[in-house]
Amino acid sequence: MVDQLRRSTRLMEVLAAIVLGLGLWWLHSLSPSLTAVPVVSHPIVVLDPGHGGRDPGALSRSGLMEKHVNLAIAHAVARFLRANGVTVYLTRMKDQGPSSFHQYSVQQDLIARSRFAEKFSATVFVTIHSNWEPSHSARGPIVYYDAGSPSSAQLAAEVAKALVPLLGYDRPTRPIRQLVLQQVTMPAINVEVGFLSHSHDAALLATSHYQINLASAITHGILSYLRSRGWLH
Ligand SMILES: [Zn+2]
Repeated sequence: MVDQLRRSTRLMEVLAAIVLGLGLWWLHSLSPSLTAVPVVSHPIVVLDPGHGGRDPGALSRSGLMEKHVNLAIAHAVARFLRANGVTVYLTRMKDQGPSSFHQYSVQQDLIARSRFAEKFSATVFVTIHSNWEPSHSARGPIVYYDAGSPSSAQLAAEVAKALVPLLGYDRPTRPIRQLVLQQVTMPAINVEVGFLSHSHDAALLATSHYQINLASAITHGILSYLRSRGWLH
């Protein structure tokens, strides 16, 4: 009986060794394909609140400065995107320009913003501005995209579509040749959130309620784009 037990225990050990060996061989045979599986990447959005510091941007008749409107909306978009698992970097966090140059120039300022997006290998780049025009009649947001970039056009289309429920109308996106958009290699858009030259737009843009609604729509547009490209589920 004891011999029989010893024999069956030995048999079990041999079988276990064979199973283990086969398992290791199987794992080894899998390893080339395992290493080929791409690393799961997370989307990175760089938001660029236009102007800042010594550069106030456009001004409304009531004295509302573009730089403050852009920053408030960018911060809200950042909050919403982060809540959806997106990594976000802002070219500026407060009332200051991103450029470290002592001698301010618009060109250097814009290039610093583009370099920031490149440094963080952004998935998309979204600059946020407020519009102004001399007739004081134009109003509402307009989404511009880097001319000649189909992915930028698609990103712009998603953001414009997301703005429709808020605005009650569908405004076509517009191609633009703008230094800050041209200098980056990822899809890039400029969301002009409204006209500070229009009294009604300026009054709306001054309220945190409208800023939040705009930010929510912009976020939805960016998320739709990221989902369509497989960056998010
Ligand atoms: Zn601007």
